Amino acid sequence: MAAALALINRGHDVDVYEQAPELKEFGAGVQISPNGTRALHVLGVLETLRQLSCDTEGKEVRLWNTGRTWKLFDLGAEAIERYGFPYVTVFRPDLLQVLVDAVRARKPDAIHLGWRAAGVTQRKDRVILESESGKTVEGDALIGADGVHSVIRHKLFGGDRPRFFGMIAWRGVIPMKRVPQHISRDKATNWIGVGGHVVHYPLRAGKLMNFVGIQERDNWQVESWTTQGTAQECAADHTGWHADVQALIAASPSLFKWALMGREPLPRWTVGNVTLLGDACHPTLPMLAQGAVMAIEDAVILGRCFDKYADVVTALSRYQDARIAVASRRVVGANENAARFHNPALRNEEGATTYVDREWSREAIIRRYEWIFTYDVNAVDI
Ligand SMILES: Cc1cc2nc3c(=O)[nH]c(=O)nc-3n(C[C@H](O)[C@H](O)[C@H](O)COP(=O)(O)OP(=O)(O)OC[C@H]3O[C@@H](n4cnc5c(N)ncnc54)[C@H](O)[C@@H]3O)c2cc1C
Repeated sequence: MAAALALINRGHDVDVYEQAPELKEFGAGVQISPNGTRALHVLGVLETLRQLSCDTEGKEVRLWNTGRTWKLFDLGAEAIERYGFPYVTVFRPDLLQVLVDAVRARKPDAIHLGWRAAGVTQRKDRVILESESGKTVEGDALIGADGVHSVIRHKLFGGDRPRFFGMIAWRGVIPMKRVPQHISRDKATNWIGVGGHVVHYPLRAGKLMNFVGIQERDNWQVESWTTQGTAQECAADHTGWHADVQALIAASPSLFKWALMGREPLPRWTVGNVTLLGDACHPTLPMLAQGAVMAIEDAVILGRCFDKYADVVTALSRYQDARIAVASRRVVGANENAARFHNPALRNEEGATTYVDREWSREAIIRRYEWIFTYDVNAVDI
């Protein structure tokens, strides 16, 4: 949707073909770091989104069993001062709605629902997209932004072998009035432990709390936004974790589970007049909170390439070249954070203190995040 908006904003005629019969996002949270809010600003939707999001005050790290707390970094005012843009936490349906509204305001009939792409045929200057039910549409270019199980990626580059990371993500959204008062309501909290970590942060101007619990487990391998589990199963995966974590699990009206799969970074995303965008080309573990942000950045850079290069094949190839190295580096960064967040050194408080002081020192944080947060979609060479 961000890609559609980036192109429509620049005067291109775009149609979006979405398999879902209705535009209903999965109810979960997404963190958007300053490089992502900078890209949303370029798309013209940041101000609207901020009315629905939260400028969390800061980020903290807590130890899985004792609850000992370390400050990680300031997000609110400090992020704006340092990067020019805020670090926000957003309810996914709100993010989608803001993008959809902006697309429809510019082209009311741009979005075609219940349209599942199944095939692609490339001709010299045209590309034909076929639906599962045999309908076809054609255009000058095709952007496959169809997520981690991308059909378009499969058509361009063949099947891949997702690697199961041996981790399951539990996700829940909790009405804030059900969250015990003493659990931080204005900070993003990252609990770290031996075989897992837990993240929670406020959404929708503080009315909701997002909960994500990632635990190492090898008996669940379904990548799905919609598979539900029970609070008992989730609590069992968090045995020994602090009472605050248990309280959040108990307060979650429903909990969904998702197996974390990884794929090797692709060496290329573009073939002629077809390219990929977002999870379709650079799926990532969520440990750097950059998957959705990268899709939004891709969108802006794609729009800039269409502006600069009249020839579609050149525009798509320049888009790929501008983005592929930075996206691959972030995927690697997320993998490294997985090992960092789940570490044997965290077994007890003594080991944890030395470990956290080293891994979350100011210098280490700047080394890991500064190059990401300062990334400017408008300044990148294309
Ligand atoms: C636990 C967890 C936490 C996360 N936290 C963050 C975070 O804090 N910050 C962040 O930036 N990212 C986060 N992410 C990553 C983020 O959710 C993804 O990177 C992002 O959703 C990718 O967007 P996308 O548009 O590429 O793909 P998707 O969001 O998967 O969208 C793909 C769309 O294509 C449609 N589609 C699929 N196949 C077809 C087809 N054949 N025909 C037509 N339509 C089709 C789908 O219905 C869907 O609407 C997290 C992910 C997980 C699992």
